[in-house]
Amino acid sequence: MDVTPILENLNDAQRQAVTAPAEPTLVIAGAGSGKTRVLVHRAAWLIDVEGVSPQSLLAVTFTNKAAAEMRGRIETLLRLPVQNLWIGTFHGLAHRMLRRHWREAGLPQNFQIIDSDDQLRLIKRLLKNLEIDDGRWVPREIQWFINAQKDEGLRPQHLDHEGNADRRQMISLYQAYEEICQRGGLVDFAELLLRAHELLRDNAELLSHYRRRFQHLLVDEFQDTNAIQYAWLRLLAGDSGVPFVVGDDDQSIYRWRGARVEHIHRFQTDFPGTRIVKLEQNYRSTATILNAANAVIANNSSRLGKNLWTEGAEGEAIRVYSAYNERDEADFVIGRLRDWIDQGNARADSAVLYRSNAQSRVLEESLINAGIPYRVYGGLRFFERAEIKDALAYLRLISHRDDDSSFERIVNKPTRGIGARTVELIRSYARANACSLWRAAGAIASNDLSSRAANAVSTFMSLVERMARETRGLDLHDQVDHVIYASGLVDFFKKDKGEKGETRVENLLELVSAAKSFEPDPAEEMTPLDEFLSHAALEAGEGQADAWEDCVQLMTMHSAKGLEFPLVFMCGMEDGLFPHQRSIADPNGLEEERRLCYVGITRAKKTLFVTHAEQRRLHGMDNFSQPSRFIAEIPAEHIEEVRPRVQITRPMRSLHSRQGLRAATMPNDELGIRLGQRVRHRKFGDGVILNCEGQGAHARVEVNFETAGTKWLVLSYANLDLM
Ligand code: ATP
Ligand code: MG
Repeated sequence: MDVTPILENLNDAQRQAVTAPAEPTLVIAGAGSGKTRVLVHRAAWLIDVEGVSPQSLLAVTFTNKAAAEMRGRIETLLRLPVQNLWIGTFHGLAHRMLRRHWREAGLPQNFQIIDSDDQLRLIKRLLKNLEIDDGRWVPREIQWFINAQKDEGLRPQHLDHEGNADRRQMISLYQAYEEICQRGGLVDFAELLLRAHELLRDNAELLSHYRRRFQHLLVDEFQDTNAIQYAWLRLLAGDSGVPFVVGDDDQSIYRWRGARVEHIHRFQTDFPGTRIVKLEQNYRSTATILNAANAVIANNSSRLGKNLWTEGAEGEAIRVYSAYNERDEADFVIGRLRDWIDQGNARADSAVLYRSNAQSRVLEESLINAGIPYRVYGGLRFFERAEIKDALAYLRLISHRDDDSSFERIVNKPTRGIGARTVELIRSYARANACSLWRAAGAIASNDLSSRAANAVSTFMSLVERMARETRGLDLHDQVDHVIYASGLVDFFKKDKGEKGETRVENLLELVSAAKSFEPDPAEEMTPLDEFLSHAALEAGEGQADAWEDCVQLMTMHSAKGLEFPLVFMCGMEDGLFPHQRSIADPNGLEEERRLCYVGITRAKKTLFVTHAEQRRLHGMDNFSQPSRFIAEIPAEHIEEVRPRVQITRPMRSLHSRQGLRAATMPNDELGIRLGQRVRHRKFGDGVILNCEGQGAHARVEVNFETAGTKWLVLSYANLDLM
């Protein structure tokens, strides 16, 4: 038996983990120490050397992308394709189980997955139906409440209102929401996990089947499992399953989504005799990057504590750039990306990371202007674009008439004269008769509507019926192709003059290509269309477009977890943005932000740029901020400040005149005056510099004082104290 390729390029600790006996194992180690590598090699080892059937492995990774990569890597190691391998995300695997056992799970066979947008819309509609004020009962908060309960494994009947009227209301909304979902066969993301757990918990036979089947449970990014995911794993493992989990407490970044790093401790109690393997050598980053990351995370108090080291080179210093504003920041990033590409490097080897999704827009604009291909992960997701969701709604309605959210989405899109009043009538009929909107529409079209409205509704219904008929038996992509035209969507968006409409039509056509390249799983019992629709809902998070093109990778720090790139930019490193404003005051929140920063830094292999802007327009507001405190936590010896190329004159956007770009001159830098600088004035008190004009004795600054409002002051008279 030739075991060399599997054990090649592993250090002693890694090898020990890979070849560990069939006992619960916890690999706890820092970023870039080879945890994912160990997991992949463990799978290959089990199959190839221990003779374990691929069928008895279950591997959980964090994203679909990681799952695909793991499958690929196992196949490369084994030099053969592995079929029937259960590798996926928690959601993906839960979904697979529910599809197989929909009956036992209490779901209709063609249940539909709804994403968080659909979920929110459903909640809004629910409030409207119940005539509940959505100002007092904020839909997003209700959504949050429902998901948080599900993540903890709690159904409405498990909840106690504790004598609190608000809580009682929340619980009853949760209950009502559940009824709608059950009626429409709708399953949200949190429900996938909860149902999959209940499925095993309540079906002894199934449970013992799966316990027998899955001997080995491999889990990556274990620190980010939430309560229900952990419960599912434990249930599945039982007394005989062998869990093999890898994780890093310093990279736990989903506390806000219910993830509990405490599971690392729980695991050791739940599985007595757990073997613990620590990996400390980092193979990813230069010593400079690694030391910077170590220094930052050392500021957290709640840690298991470990120190990473590398045999790698010292490497380049981390470059920090202070931009004037977000455009300047984007220009800087583009400039450096250009240099990178000109040096013959692959674009895909570079990543631009940011804290919040909204930051991507400006970066995207600059990349487009510069003609640099890029791809956004988790932002403008292909399957989440409005026109795509419209087309999917038609497809869903064809396959499942009782899908209310799809019905609402397209009943009057393209416009066909079904007004808000008609829809309201349909809704109230559905409410009164506890039926779907589709049924309600059919029932009242013949009775309660004016003849014009009735006509419009019947036209819509027969359109859907006709499409269902005409697409029956067609190949999946022909079905999609038929629907985007027959629904009138293509014509509808064509009328939208300009680039936007054009892009939307292109996206619709892209959906046909997506269907074409979609490979249904022959083992699935669903129709290819249903499978495709589930795929669309599940993959929405992972930007499918243009996968083949070499392009710069844009993503939030959260979605960068587990990935690595030779060149990394961390943008928007400003207090208030990162760490995020709402976390600053809360020590736990701040520590989670710091872990996220640790994740960001450790994505870089060779070159790391950190940028911050003095002034930033985000969500339509101008903010002035200080550089992120995390930058100050990086030891100075690892940092090199990048000086702007032009120092004296800088183009600047006037905040108040809104005249767009105009040239202005900064007063002497030696005075330490800069945009966003906090100052104190004898009479007006504390404020922030918004704008500067003129030079020398004529230099004037505009200051926004906290109490006195905005004032222009001549610097040489104002006697401002810098703070
Ligand atoms: P993260 O915490 O970011 O998920 P990780 O611990 O999962 O990181 P990997 O992604 O598995 O780390 O490994 C980081 C890099 O180091 C990868 O490029 C991997 O191929 C490489 N690597 C890991 N172990 C070794 C080794 N023993 N020899 C050479 N390269 C290695
Ligand atoms: Mg990893």
